[in-house]
Amino acid sequence: GTVYLNGEYLGADEAKISPMDRGFLFGDGIYEVIPSYQGKMLGFGAHIERMNNGLNELEIKLDYSADTWRKICNDLCEKNKGDNLGIYLHVSRGADTKRAHGYPTNITPTVFAFAFEIPAEPKGEIDNATTYTVSLEQDRRWQRCHIKSTALLGNVIHYQHGAAAGNKETILFNRLEEITEASSSNVFIVKEGVISTPPLDNQILPGITRWLILNILHSYSDFKVQERIISKDELLDADEVWITSATKEVGPVVKVNGKLVGDGKPGAVWQQVQSLFTKHKFDY
Ligand code: PMP
Repeated sequence: GTVYLNGEYLGADEAKISPMDRGFLFGDGIYEVIPSYQGKMLGFGAHIERMNNGLNELEIKLDYSADTWRKICNDLCEKNKGDNLGIYLHVSRGADTKRAHGYPTNITPTVFAFAFEIPAEPKGEIDNATTYTVSLEQDRRWQRCHIKSTALLGNVIHYQHGAAAGNKETILFNRLEEITEASSSNVFIVKEGVISTPPLDNQILPGITRWLILNILHSYSDFKVQERIISKDELLDADEVWITSATKEVGPVVKVNGKLVGDGKPGAVWQQVQSLFTKHKFDY
């Protein structure tokens, strides 16, 4: 396929990045994945804003406007075709002449982007939902999880533990046995009709899907929604558990550590919320 690298469009096999790039040496960079269905991007502005927040926190100076990013995304969709595409954006601090931990000054960030096929949009249909079984593990990653850093090794290891146990995702808890998030998703639970998700802090990534769901739920007065600390025991005792991400949307979890969630099928609240998500996700 055609990729974008530092202002140019070229074949994926022609694109070359220096091994001195700090993205390669340190995971010193920021990335985003934006879903695009039939040419319509989901949460574009919020994804770009999160990327800029991350770049600011890492003090990586890049002068790309939202319009510049939009053009790159649209160009990649056009050049690569396909109804359901994920657009990957990657900005690293750039290639240095030496390897030292401190931020170098006067280096140019490396900007890379490409499009890849993703599954069709999830729908709120109980009979053909993509369901998920998950593991539950203590969160042992670093303590700045709100930064969408490319240093993903901790996440990869947790994901791999779940995969080795035959699961599709791993939900994590901290030392206080409070649920944080999953290896590449945020977490929601439902108990007696109340929808809860852990509050935003340094322990979780502020998921755009989480944000969209909360906005949609708050626009309807019929939901009881709480952003609050959720214990591991509460998750294990929940009527429903969901994992959310840009491509999973509201992913119904049917098993945690081998134990069924509810009756082991996607729940009624999930069905309602995924349907509302499908209806309203492009409103924001
Ligand atoms: N948490 C982590 C650790 C993630 O990697 C992701 C996916 N990027 C999410 C949560 C979900 O975020 P989003 O809804 O923006 O995809």
